[in-house]
Amino acid sequence: MKQRDFKVLVLGSLPEADDLFERGVFKDEYPCEPVRVENPEEFGRAVREPTFDLILIDVEPHGINVLRSVLDERPMRPMIMVADAAQGDVILEAKRLGLERYVMRLSDDVLNADLLAEEMVFILQRLSEPPSMEHPTVEELFRFAQYHNVRQPFFVIDRNHRLLYTNASGKALVKAVHDHDLREGDQYDRFPLTGSTQESTSHLNEALGGSEVEIEHTYERLVKNDRHREVFYQPVHDTTGAVVAVSIACKNIGLRLQAQQKVERQEQALWSFFELVPLPLKVVGPDLRIHRANAALADFLGYDDPDELQRVTLDSLLHPDDLGEAHLALNGLFEETSSYAHFECRYQHLNGETVWVNQIDFPLRGLGDEESEGLVLALSVDITRQKQAEQRAAQSERLRAIGELAAGVAHDFNNVLSIVKTYSQLIHAKLEQEGDHEYVGFTNKIVGAVDRAMALTGQLLTFGQEDEGDKARLDLNTRIHEISALLERNLGEGVDLKLELAADLPAIEIDPSQLDQVLTNLVINARDAMNAGGSLVLRTRQESKGEDLPPHPDLPTGDYALLEVEDEGEGMDEQTQRKIFEPFFTTKGRSRGTGLGLATVYRIVDRNGGYIYVDSELGCGTTFTIYFPASETGPDTGSDDLPSKKA
Ligand code: ADP
Ligand code: MG
Repeated sequence: MKQRDFKVLVLGSLPEADDLFERGVFKDEYPCEPVRVENPEEFGRAVREPTFDLILIDVEPHGINVLRSVLDERPMRPMIMVADAAQGDVILEAKRLGLERYVMRLSDDVLNADLLAEEMVFILQRLSEPPSMEHPTVEELFRFAQYHNVRQPFFVIDRNHRLLYTNASGKALVKAVHDHDLREGDQYDRFPLTGSTQESTSHLNEALGGSEVEIEHTYERLVKNDRHREVFYQPVHDTTGAVVAVSIACKNIGLRLQAQQKVERQEQALWSFFELVPLPLKVVGPDLRIHRANAALADFLGYDDPDELQRVTLDSLLHPDDLGEAHLALNGLFEETSSYAHFECRYQHLNGETVWVNQIDFPLRGLGDEESEGLVLALSVDITRQKQAEQRAAQSERLRAIGELAAGVAHDFNNVLSIVKTYSQLIHAKLEQEGDHEYVGFTNKIVGAVDRAMALTGQLLTFGQEDEGDKARLDLNTRIHEISALLERNLGEGVDLKLELAADLPAIEIDPSQLDQVLTNLVINARDAMNAGGSLVLRTRQESKGEDLPPHPDLPTGDYALLEVEDEGEGMDEQTQRKIFEPFFTTKGRSRGTGLGLATVYRIVDRNGGYIYVDSELGCGTTFTIYFPASETGPDTGSDDLPSKKA
């Protein structure tokens, strides 16, 4: 740091000082600029100049009176008095008045100069060092403020509330705020720095009492970026520890406030971004409570208002099977053993459906916002559609593989059965001819068993069937009408078949015999479930799927002809519902059920680009819903003699 020369005021005739300055003794370390004054009037003016760092006084001719006035004006101002040995009594009195350093002249001039040099170095060295801020002396502070680039306004006020020192920025501040040209000796009530005169004086008195006082103050008369100040009153002690003055520093905090406001604005921007972003977001605390949720999350989980989510815990939103993984991931973030968590999990939609998300969580750190410190920001990316499509694809693939195997076996087995049947019939004819009634009965049983076996292999072949058959563009309603008589014949006594068919149904494309299989299987299952009787409704309706997700997130958008088969039967629990499309799953026992009905239905619907859903509750009936994609060849005319088309 570039320092100015030390200004040394020399009063009277001091040949030792002249000698030192001529020789340039301190030139390198403490460059000095001496100013010599001879008479008391000049000295009186000079001494009021705050710019002198050090005063050298010859006892003669002005003696103790001058010293007294200086010390009175500026306690603790660095000063060295030079006296002849005979003037020891003056030195003694000067010390009593507060003089710190002195030189007693001896007979050797060179020695006298060295003694003075030693005293000067003692003071100059002290003035060059940054003041200890714990117990700064006035001089240290002054020196620091003047020469160590203190650009902030700085004042030193004595016990009588008089200004001892200020710097250029201090003067400028008082000029701007009070329109007053500040001079040393001015009373503090002329330039109060922290509010009214009364307030400022009380701050000053508090500091004179030994306490540090820190005030944030706004100077309305200053320009915008300059007016916010932190005013710091600090007691200044003498060597005995007594408070002799107070220093006042006015630090500009405009930039800090500006930065703070910027942070606040950024924070606001961040939170408004949080609100507006279409991705489901929430902020979670270590107690796993939701601190904030955005509208997208509320919407995603079926809540009207994001605030409702603040009243529920995270656990109540998560699927029970996924709690473990979610806790593990979040705890890692809260305990700072990980900085990022990424996992898949399921949430419960308010309507009871399960939704899948890709969860990305990370701690909210360094936002400069205490409120969010220690919290975790959680982003959810909806993957329900992909998950269900994946599950569906896996299911289709599995059914296809099982079907292929079953059809292969069934085909070969059917050939064997044909042979068995042919020869059994031949033997049967021969025995009948011979009139062997006992053995005719046996062959009848064989043929009957072979027929049942062939029916089963036929079902296996249907289930395993790969191709789409003879696809035709047809009207679902017409087809239902056509086979309803046949279906009704299959129903028991107490079961009542009702048709609720919508008029404006789009045409669909499917092999009519495969559609018949779908209808037959569903109707027969419904009948089986209605031992006590009840009504069975076949319902159709046109349905368009938009972008909104539930209740069937995996259903692609588009137009559909919808078929509902609704019964009032025994219904199914959830566990059963999960398994019904599995081949060979039956609850009817091996003799009555094959477990191939719904697996076949599933394969046919799937193969034709449709979707099937089940809605059931134990004891409350069952509804199967099938979405057949509308044929893209234009609206249907309602007749079934449309040109058929091979797939
Ligand atoms: P199966 O009829 O030979 O048992 P399915 O594949 O047709 O085989 O049906 C599988 C199982 O699904 C049935 O055994 C039954 O438990 C259940 N199920 C199917 N439809 C219904 C229904 N409408 N009501 C109640 N349960 C049903
Ligand atoms: Mg069945």
